[in-house]
Formats: sequence, structure tokens, C-alpha cells
Amino acid sequence: MEFQEFNFHPVIAASIKDAGYSTPTPIQQQSIPTVMQGRDVMGLAQTGTGKTAAFALPILNRLMDGKRGTVRALVVAPTRELAEQINGSFLQLGKQTRLKSVTVYGGVNVNPQIQALKNGVDIVVACPGRLLDHIGQGTINLSCLEVLVLDEADQMFDMGFLPDIRKILGHIPAKRQTLLFSATMPPSINKLAQDILIDPVTVQVGNTAPPVTVSHALYPVEQHLKTALLLELLKHTDTDSVLIFTRTKHRAKRLGEQLDKAGYKAASLQGNLSQNRRQAALDGFRDGNYQILVATDIAARGIDVSQISHVVNYDIPDTPEAYVHRIGRTGRAAKSGDAFTMVCSEDTVMVRTIEKKLGAPLQRRTVEGFNYSIPAPKKDAEFARPPREPRPTRKPSDVKKGSEGTINPFKPDHPGSKPAGRPLQSRPGSAGGAPKTVFNSSRRGK
Ligand code: AMP
Repeated sequence: MEFQEFNFHPVIAASIKDAGYSTPTPIQQQSIPTVMQGRDVMGLAQTGTGKTAAFALPILNRLMDGKRGTVRALVVAPTRELAEQINGSFLQLGKQTRLKSVTVYGGVNVNPQIQALKNGVDIVVACPGRLLDHIGQGTINLSCLEVLVLDEADQMFDMGFLPDIRKILGHIPAKRQTLLFSATMPPSINKLAQDILIDPVTVQVGNTAPPVTVSHALYPVEQHLKTALLLELLKHTDTDSVLIFTRTKHRAKRLGEQLDKAGYKAASLQGNLSQNRRQAALDGFRDGNYQILVATDIAARGIDVSQISHVVNYDIPDTPEAYVHRIGRTGRAAKSGDAFTMVCSEDTVMVRTIEKKLGAPLQRRTVEGFNYSIPAPKKDAEFARPPREPRPTRKPSDVKKGSEGTINPFKPDHPGSKPAGRPLQSRPGSAGGAPKTVFNSSRRGK
């Protein structure tokens, strides 16, 4: 199937070409014709599948006809980064359309958002908290809305946003097209879909398996040797840009500093950073000024950095779904990539669960010459075990305020912080060694 078959408006067809897209991805092949027919869609797709363009292109095409300067399309996304990324796709694919879009999220000055909305926009890409604030203050008019997209719905649920979503639904026209995208389908999202979608078409791609272009490997190691092993791995591996996941914000920050000290251009992305510093970390990584970005799951969710050559799970994720999400950051849209996961003996059950989900065992590797037998320091306060995030004492409805930094939504530049995504498990100290295989540098074909 070719993009020409969708009969997009010529200026949109030109932007698709400029973006370098030659063939629609499977989710685009399935979704675009259905969305163009005006049908509701339940899209089961993980990030990296091209799902943003799957809804952005038909929306842009639809908005080419009709009144300009009123909000006709609204995309709701869980994080500021994802909102910026989605808006970036609208700007890229709609650059010759003269349609206007704006992002609306907390943690930044509200006045430019109010001004942009006042001047007239066609598309709003928003996070739920700040959007509700605008609705409450009467600074956004959604009475002419035609298309609603809820992106990464499962993540919005994880972050406690579903009550806000339901509130937003009460402020937009009932007669509309609704597109719901989610990587997974927990019962809460199933229920939401049943409540808000009318006669939907379900499209599904690759949400049970990671991109085939990714090669995975496990690196068994004791907890206290993870950083040393990581440095060894980086030394021996031909990397372009590396995204490293840690279990907590604290570990992301610490590891970022350690890598920086070791001479790498590294930044960490975690919810305690101000919006400006988060954006600087992201932009620096995207531009190649930082070779390494260390992040927590929530901070990195949905981030599209097409050049990522390696994903390293410094800490194994809590669920097999999270594993698939994380390594979906590499090997994006048919590029190849490598995923390394450091595992301790206490991760055995999770490794088995992930392998079951993938339907195949993961290769175990060791780094030749690395001294795996260095004993743990007596008092390894830092990395003897992953420190817990502070337990949230707030209700989920409060947690989401922090995640967008909208405690006082109309107070400019509130830095905000992100909540922990999933409850942390208690993790006993590690033991056990690595099987002896030969280090394979896993060089990526360029
Ligand atoms: P997404 O899943 O929307 O985050 O998209 C993942 C990446 O794939 C982004 O960098 C897109 O620019 C890219 N992409 C989307 N559609 C296509 C396509 N048809 N061909 C090549 N790359 C694409």
C-alpha cells in the first residue's frame, strides 16, 4: 500500500514526502482509511509504530476544509514530552496547511497558551490537568470540536488521569469522532472504550512483541557492579545514542552524574527537573549533544528519538509490557537497535515473565575480562538495592497534579514533578553470578 492511495490533500502529500515516509506503517495502513471515513477507532499500538501520523494525517486532511481558527481537533496525552512530540508531528506533517496547533500543559507559563487560544487555533494537544484548568477558566472553547484523540490511554490511567478524562468528556460535543490509542488493554481502558467509542473499528499492531529489528540480551550482574559493567559495556559497544532506564528518579540522577564523571556526554531526565531543564535534556539528546540519556519509565514514555541505537535497562522493568515499551524506543520504524538488560538474581521471575511474553528465551551474555567477583562494599548505601521512591501519600487525583506541575495552574513556571508510575516492589539483596559466555559487542549495522 502506498500513501498516494489515501488521496491526501496535495500539501499534506508533499509533507509526507518531505518527512521521508515512503510506505505507510501497518498501523497507518489500518487506521488511516477508517479515520478518514469518520469512524471511531480503538488503536492498540505501542510507540514507535507510527501511530502519531496514523491519526495526525487524517485529522490534518479533514481540517483542510471548513472554518479556520476554532478548535476542531483535540489530542489528550499523558506527559508534556509526548504532547510536544505529537505537536511536532502536526507541525511537520501540516507545515504547508496553515492550520494552527498549540500545546497545553502545566509547569509552564499559562499566558502564551491563553494568547494562542485567543488568537485562534485548529488543533490543541493537551495534558489533562492544564486542559481542565483552561476549561474551568473559560480560556478554551471546545464547542466546535469534531475529533478527540486520547493517546497512550493506559499510561493516562496509570498516572491517575481517568477521572480528568471523564470530566473533559463532559465539556466537549457528544457528536464527534473519537480515537483511542493504547499500548495495552487493561480492564479500565476496555471500560472507557466501551463508554466513549461508538461502533469502533479496532486496529492492532505489534503490541505484544517488540520491533523485530531489536536484538536483546541479558547481562547478569550483581547490583553493586551495575555501573562498572555499564561503563565496560559502553566502552566496548559502538553506540550512537543510548537511552538508559532506571527504576527511580534518584537512580536516574545519580547514574547520569556518574556517566558524566566518567567522561560521557550524559543527561538525566526525571520528574524532579524543571520543565526548562527537561526540555534541554531532551533537545540535547535529540540533537546529539548528549550521547546518553538516563530516564525513568514515566519520564521517557513515548519519547521519539529516532536515532537511538541502544536501550539499556539498568534496572529491569516491573512488567513485561514495560519491557516492550522501553525497548520500543530503539529499532523504531524499521531501524535496527540493541537492547541490553542488567539482571540480578532477584529478577529471575521477571525475566521468565518477559521471556514468556516474547515467546523466546533471551540470550545471556557476559563481558569478557570484567571482574564479576568484586565483593559488595560493606555499606553500599547507594546501589546495594534500589532505593524506594517516597510513598505517595496523596490520592491519585492529587498525584496527577504533580505530574504536570499544575498545583497552581495559573501560576507561571511551576516546575512540577512526576509521580512514580507503578508501586515499587521490595527487592531483596542480590546474589549469584553470571554464566560464562563471550562478550559480543553487538555492533549495529549503520
Ligand atoms: P510514533 O510511533 O508515532 O512515535 O512514530 C515513530 C517514528 O516513526 C517517528 O519518528 C515517525 O516520524 C516515524 N514514522 C512514522 N510513520 C512513518 C512512515 N510511514 N515511514 C517511516 N517513518 C515513519
